[in-house]
Formats: sequence, C-alpha cells, structure tokens
Amino acid sequence: MEREKLFGKTLTELSIVTAAVGLPSYASKQIAAWLYKKDATSTDEMTDLSLKARGILAERYETGITPPSSETAGGDGTKKYLFRVLGNRFIETAFIPDRERSTVCLSVQSGCRMGCRFCMTAKQGFQGNLASGDILNQFRSIPEHQSLTNIVYMGMGEPLDNLEEVLKSLEILTSPWGYGWSPSRITVSTVGLTDRMKEYLESTRCHLAVSLHSPFDAERQAMMPVQKAHPVKEVLDIIRSHDIGRQRRVSFEYIVFKGLNDTPSHVRELARILNGIRCRINLIRFHAIPGSEYASPGLKEMEQFRDSLNAKGILATIRASRGEDISAACGLLSTLEQNKNQ
Ligand code: SF4
Repeated sequence: MEREKLFGKTLTELSIVTAAVGLPSYASKQIAAWLYKKDATSTDEMTDLSLKARGILAERYETGITPPSSETAGGDGTKKYLFRVLGNRFIETAFIPDRERSTVCLSVQSGCRMGCRFCMTAKQGFQGNLASGDILNQFRSIPEHQSLTNIVYMGMGEPLDNLEEVLKSLEILTSPWGYGWSPSRITVSTVGLTDRMKEYLESTRCHLAVSLHSPFDAERQAMMPVQKAHPVKEVLDIIRSHDIGRQRRVSFEYIVFKGLNDTPSHVRELARILNGIRCRINLIRFHAIPGSEYASPGLKEMEQFRDSLNAKGILATIRASRGEDISAACGLLSTLEQNKNQ
C-alpha cells in the first residue's frame, strides 16, 4: 500500500494525521519540528515520539523527502537540479548564487497550461500540479539548502494556477512551527491570473512579480494567450486597489526580445500604464529555445532600453543572465530528460 507523505503538510493537516493514528494533538508540533526544523528524512528519526507511535505512523505515512535525480553545474556557479515527480515526470530547480545572495528557483507544476509562446515549459503541455511537499522538497533537498537567502517561485508552471498548494508551501515556509522564513525573502511570480491574485495578496505577505513582457494588449496576447482572459489592465487595477504596503515589493518581469518589445513606444506606454505603482521592472534577456521565432538582444540594446525606462522615472534593472551554459531557459533540461525516459 502506498504511504501518504508527511512532508508538505501544514500544522492543521498534521493534527488530522495525529488524530487519525491516535496520537495526542501536541504530537503534530513535534512532527512539524522534525520535518521542517530538524530535517528528518524518516519517521524513525522522530525520537520524541514513543517507539510504538513511530511504528503506527510508519505503517501509514512516510516523510516523502526525495533527493534530486541529477545536477548540472554552470561555470558561473549556477546549478540546475532535476527532481522526479508525478511518476515519471521531471521538474527543474535552479540554485543561483550571487554575491551575498543565494536563491533557489522553485517549480510548481509539471509542464504548464499558460502557453506562453517563448517558453520551453509550455511546449511540454500540462502534466499536473505539484503538491506542497513536492514544491518544498526542492528547497529542502538541494545541497545548498542551509545557505539559501531567497526563494523565488519562478520555475516551471504558473504558481497561481496551483494556488492551494503554493499557499500551503508558503505557510510552511513562513510559520514559526515551519521554516520560519521572512515573507520578505520570498517572491511568487505570476502571469497575472486576476481572480487568484486577490487571494494571493490577501493570504500572504510575500512579494509579487508579474510577467509583463509588453504594455500593448495585442502584442502581449500574441506572446501570452492568458492576456485575453486576464488583461494586464485588470492586473494593474488589482495591484493599485490593494494596499501593497511598505514591506511587500511588486515587480514586473520583462523578457526583452530583440527589436520587438524594446522600442521608444514601449518605453512611453510602460511609463503610462505603470504610473502611480511603486515598482521595479526586471529586464531579462530572452534565452533562445529551439524553434522560437524570437531573438535575443545584445547587452547594448538591453542597456539602452533600461536607461530609457530609468529616464522616464521607471526603476528598471537588467537581471544578469545566469547559467547560460546549462540550458538556462526553464524547461529545456527536463524536456531532454523526459525524452530520454520515454
Ligand atoms: S512562462 Fe511561466 S506561465 Fe508562461 S508557459 Fe512558461 S512556465 Fe507557464
């Protein structure tokens, strides 16, 4: 019989587990501490539970901790890990060291159903949502776990399309009984699913990053089909109507495609639509993917675009390209691995 996984359960869910196996309710806090503070990999290690209790627990539950199935290191210190999930699928997790910061980039789905035209993960189609334990296992099981300073939900999949599990993982990361991380070190990225953005903003204090890529509706829709059902105007209205507060940061991710979305008219329109929103634009150089109609800009073009935005009063920075030698575009490595395993 397949055993249920404990890792990724909230304290409330662990209380249901302890009740189901006849343990006192305080045992849920003990189990949470073993899972999230003491990095236990098996129920045998939970030595403040009686031997009998551990035995009962082990009959029905396992921790569910799994190591990465492979690791690829880039020349700049970036690493990409593959984790096996949902049977025989692979997801990517990136570790990105940058001076005093060490960031892990988490995946939330196998594949994705958002269909962004520039994205390799989109080409995999949608294979399934990751459970909160699968999301957190990426953070917990990479060798650099103890040195991490920042977490971004910017890997494979759309976080707000798997909101329930993402919120559970954030609760575990930020609760005193969990990992006790500050929400100010966690950023969740979204294409802007308007109905779920409100819930996200009201449920957590973590940062928000919105994938923008163009200020023009038709152009954005050609790149991101989601624009049709979730127009960027509505996304910006939601941001404006929420008290984002001083602690929470809103940023816009803007992949720059050579000669397409980096013209003076884009600068003017970005300044117009973002007027009044305290934010930053992160400019990301497009990483070429097989069969793509889009081209990568040079550094000079990126700098010109950044300077034009800054001159219009929009704080824009260029995100350094990392891991270019290890298939930087998210979805490339897992696609290769899946093809090998078919
Ligand atoms: S860019 Fe993100 S949201 Fe768009 S298809 Fe790729 S993984 Fe999904």
